[in-house]
Amino acid sequence: MNHYKIKLHTIKAFAFDVDGVLTDGTVQVSENGDLLRCYNAKDGLAIREAIEAGFPVAIITGGSSETITRRFTTLGVKNADIYLRSRLKMPDLLDFCHRYDLQPSEIVFVGDDLPDIAPMQQCGLPCCPSDAAPEVQRVAQYISPCPGGGGCVRDVIEQTLKIQGKWNITAPPVST
Ligand SMILES: [Mg+2]
Repeated sequence: MNHYKIKLHTIKAFAFDVDGVLTDGTVQVSENGDLLRCYNAKDGLAIREAIEAGFPVAIITGGSSETITRRFTTLGVKNADIYLRSRLKMPDLLDFCHRYDLQPSEIVFVGDDLPDIAPMQQCGLPCCPSDAAPEVQRVAQYISPCPGGGGCVRDVIEQTLKIQGKWNITAPPVST
């Protein structure tokens, strides 16, 4: 079994960057200056499932748009667990750990760019999408085959919950 799969057994919470992880990194600017991001519904379903299975989920992003909060509270993420304008991400990760009485070693962090390296180096299982910055790929212990915004969060959550027997969504039987 790969080393990262052994660690999946000990994971108790997830923390995600937004741009380039939960999106493909594209930010569109509307006529009136609003920033528009595209999210992946498969990632959304997995986040909802993780929360229902009892895993706290943190969103730690340098972004400041309130639409980020709206997107993730809709999926069940608590307002207090959404860290906007996070420049130094490590203090926010430690705050999240403190509030849930968790150790960083019990957390998966998925990031794609340089500000994510510090929390990735401290967490239990650093992961990244397939198109993460090379420096980030070097510190990741698991590189998803999926790119940012293309299901990498779904991949990481689904593997974790399945290995812990907590993935409770079953596909209907296929009729032949
Ligand atoms: Mg990013």
